Amino acid sequence: MSRPDDWLRPELRGLQAYQVAEADGLIKLDAMENPFDLPAEVAGQWGEALSGLPVNRYPDAAAREVKQALRQAMGIPASASLMLGNGSDEILQILMLAVAAPDACLVTPAPGFAMFGLIARTVGLRCVSVPLADDFSLDADAMVSAIEREQPALVIVAQPNNPTGNAFDAAALRRVVEAAPGAMVIDEAYFPFADDDCLAWLDDYPQLLIMRTVSKLGLAGLRLGLLAGAPAWIEALEPLRLPYNVNSLTQAAAALALAHYPAFQAQAEAIRRERPRLASALAGLDGVEVFPSQANFLLMRVPPGRAPAWHAALREQGVLIKNLHGSHPRVADCLRATVGTPAEIDALIRALEVVTAADR
Ligand code: PMP
Repeated sequence: MSRPDDWLRPELRGLQAYQVAEADGLIKLDAMENPFDLPAEVAGQWGEALSGLPVNRYPDAAAREVKQALRQAMGIPASASLMLGNGSDEILQILMLAVAAPDACLVTPAPGFAMFGLIARTVGLRCVSVPLADDFSLDADAMVSAIEREQPALVIVAQPNNPTGNAFDAAALRRVVEAAPGAMVIDEAYFPFADDDCLAWLDDYPQLLIMRTVSKLGLAGLRLGLLAGAPAWIEALEPLRLPYNVNSLTQAAAALALAHYPAFQAQAEAIRRERPRLASALAGLDGVEVFPSQANFLLMRVPPGRAPAWHAALREQGVLIKNLHGSHPRVADCLRATVGTPAEIDALIRALEVVTAADR
């Protein structure tokens, strides 16, 4: 009998797929989605824009209209080239496939986005993770010395970081960018909720690539990510991108939505405004420590050993968040919750009050 393990590359044996929790009927605060409905001005035109699409034809291979809409909405500098992906996950895969070689590696801080390590493993790229400092700040000395030692083909830093939510100090991040000998990616998935971004740095560093996604803005279901950077890097990566990787429905829907970008920015602003309310409610709970965030989620530490039980108890009460305990020592006893609508936040706080009362 043919068994996959006899034929798979050794590094794929026993590998677990990215885990997505079952969320039917639950208040879904586990995946950093925008909780609001599609803005009315977009929803009103959606059907008409999509119904006329010639889906018997392949999509525009160069995705010109949606690229232009992304450039305009996000203010991507004209000097930068763009590559699009089926979500930024696909862009990460393209980047890692491009550099994977027996002596190559990726350097990235930890804890970080789980897909960095998972994709590296699937493409056979060694991943060197550099622990964040205890306060989740970027350990620039440790990053720079890892970079000098390893000469990585690829360095990836998420700014703000997932799962910690904080934005790193700009001077520390610049030191990392300046040390990177190969491709340097700043993953700005959470840019809509942050005080600052690094787009202007593209003019300073030819090795810098900025990755963004429309997912956290309110279009997670479309699956659209972008990589902006020097034409030389984007051209070098293009052969790895499968033709037509961004489908016609996504191209048209995203172009339409991005024409109403201020409506999405207003939703992101509403989430930013709710964030401190959730943070102070969490901080007021017995035994909960909450960490600063510039993203659309908050990381909290609960009493030692209680994260799995709290996570399960919240689920029992209909609220789904993410348990990070066991994923990395720096986030031991930590839970992560998306900043939802005001009503969802109230439900989360009420559920947590029940859990903390039961734990006393
Ligand atoms: N980067 C980071 C830091 C993320 O947290 C996520 C999503 N959780 C992604 C990238 C992937 O986003 P996309 O939906 O565009 O694949």
